[in-house]
Amino acid sequence: MVEWLRKSQQKFALLTNGVQWRLIHAGPDYEAWCEWDIALWFEEGEPSDQVRALLHLLSPKALTPPKEGEPAPLVAAIQDTRKGQAELSANLGERVRLAVEHIIHSSGEVIDHLRAESVAVSPRDVYIAATRLVMRCVVVLFAEARELLPRTDPVYNDSYSLQGLRGQLDNFYAVADAEACESCGVCETRCQMEAITSPEGKAVVDRSRCIGCALCLTTCPSGALQRLGGRDVRCLQERLGLLEGGP
Ligand code: SF4
Ligand code: SF4
Repeated sequence: MVEWLRKSQQKFALLTNGVQWRLIHAGPDYEAWCEWDIALWFEEGEPSDQVRALLHLLSPKALTPPKEGEPAPLVAAIQDTRKGQAELSANLGERVRLAVEHIIHSSGEVIDHLRAESVAVSPRDVYIAATRLVMRCVVVLFAEARELLPRTDPVYNDSYSLQGLRGQLDNFYAVADAEACESCGVCETRCQMEAITSPEGKAVVDRSRCIGCALCLTTCPSGALQRLGGRDVRCLQERLGLLEGGP
């Protein structure tokens, strides 16, 4: 059907086996389609949204080019969607790459520690593990955005949800007690968000950069850092896999 559309220079075809109906569009190097099932065409004797959508897509208004040389509104909508998909893929790819880099960078200390104990950790293993972790997060975030996971359930939201976790972290921030700070600089190197500086030798947290991960709290030898807001630090760190034995 797609080849037939291309060869005959037709934009759309409607195909059915009597039960399912498929509206197909073939572009020069892509195709798009949507499908209906007649079992869902009527609800309580009234035409359903599916029928209304089919009628709308097949209407002269949707299929007629507004001017010669311009695409029909339906073709223009499909092309816009394709542009949006390309942008989304490029953005997602870049963010996944950054997240993988970030995880690998953050894991350097642990990997060095393992290597010092003669545990074989190849760069390939680290890359695969980091990519797998990020892609799992992407899948969970996608499922949560589409409400395929029970985000409205407080148990799920508070204990398992990535968006719930993000919301909790948004409430966290660290503060440094200048008097207790021993100026060792550990927290500054530990913070992945470059939120800590020592302008006058003592640690200072930039709250606008701090994501509340609490890594600095658990590494400060003098207990000069404290957290404000949010919930239990250790619980969150375990869920982020930042502590030994974490997921
Ligand atoms: S809580 Fe995390 S992001 Fe904030 S200062 Fe400490 S290490 Fe940096
Ligand atoms: S780790 Fe603690 S003692 Fe060291 S610089 Fe940071 S706040 Fe100060």
